[in-house]
Amino acid sequence: MGKNDERLIVKNGNVFDSLTGKIKKNTTIAISGKQIVWVGANDSFEKEKNDQVIKADGKTVLPGLVESHVHLASTCSAQSERVHLRTKTAMWHYIALNNAQKHLASGFTCVRDCGAMPGWIPSLRRIIDMGIFAGPRLVVSDNGIGQWGNQEAIGPDYMLDYYQKVGEVLTGVDGIKHAVRERKRAGADFIKTLTTGGVLHGMDSKLGMSLFLDEELEAMVEEAERLGMHVACHAHGLEGIRSAVKAGIHTIEHGSFLDEETADLMVKKGTFLVPTQMALAGLLSADILQQLPPEVQIKTKNTGKRSREAHKIAYEKGVKIAVGTDAGTPGNFHGTTGTEIKFMVENVGMTPVEALQAATIVGAKCVHLDDKIGVIEKGKIADIVISNKNPLEDITVVENPKNFSHVIKDGKIMVEKGVITYFSP
Ligand SMILES: [Zn+2]
Repeated sequence: MGKNDERLIVKNGNVFDSLTGKIKKNTTIAISGKQIVWVGANDSFEKEKNDQVIKADGKTVLPGLVESHVHLASTCSAQSERVHLRTKTAMWHYIALNNAQKHLASGFTCVRDCGAMPGWIPSLRRIIDMGIFAGPRLVVSDNGIGQWGNQEAIGPDYMLDYYQKVGEVLTGVDGIKHAVRERKRAGADFIKTLTTGGVLHGMDSKLGMSLFLDEELEAMVEEAERLGMHVACHAHGLEGIRSAVKAGIHTIEHGSFLDEETADLMVKKGTFLVPTQMALAGLLSADILQQLPPEVQIKTKNTGKRSREAHKIAYEKGVKIAVGTDAGTPGNFHGTTGTEIKFMVENVGMTPVEALQAATIVGAKCVHLDDKIGVIEKGKIADIVISNKNPLEDITVVENPKNFSHVIKDGKIMVEKGVITYFSP
């Protein structure tokens, strides 16, 4: 948008209503500033003199897509030690910005970052919010609250130190409450924790036990909610998933060994699942797998097979599922979340409508921003993707950002045909 009184009009498109799953044909959207100010039938649209018009005839108009799990400052490499050895701390800020822009360029106007070194991503969020650079709306956790067993990285001491900072180990109810307050002060929007070990963290990093005491998890949730934050929990093994859900944690990340009973509990509690199938797909790709230590290869194969079954169980039981990739893990690249949407159809069993809802309205609820984004209606922030092709007819359309003629964020055209065109005035 140029002048302040100029509206941006998305004219006569086929708008995907994420609430009903229906397409509203020949619909026009008027945007003023950051907000959607009018949505209705194109026939009843009244043009104003200074309107800037995007013709959307025959195109599919989607709410801006939501990516619920990434690590903007992670390497995407199976050789993290080498990358870290060659990368100065200050360089990570630019790498994270570039990764954030890849998400925006691929139609994801909101991205939840699930952990990096202290201070990095809250600072990036502020820079993007100031409009200095084009980037997605960031929802940030700052560094995670970890526990012994999460951070047994295979590698040199500096990598162990790194993981200690990315997932800080704290103990006891007071220690946890203090950590939650520290993150609030540092600018976190939510808390990231881990109740099980990770696939990549070596065989001593156990997937099958819960690492926190129940009272510690309950204190984390209580303190986070008191400060207006939600809690996301990395959990592969059943014990860790169950303890997190019981404690009232809001979103389960990965959920690899989820069973029917725990899925029922998640439905009852309203817990979200973010499957991150791209993470294991990345690890299982031939190029990456052969670079992993033999014991991690075994762990990866076991988890990969079981996790797809677990996600199907969750879907069939009616667990709320949001789209997130864990981008930043080896072979799991930023800007490819469209493939995770496809996986929701191909591997989980969703319809294309449900998969798009998982990446719009359900994602917005998962990141606690559904009062602002996730649906195209009057009063919401104008985060909008205009697609030349209809992803409801072919879900692979969302894998290629060139299919999107425009990506609008905060009422501004930021991307055209997969390329960022917004520069700070
Ligand atoms: Zn993660």
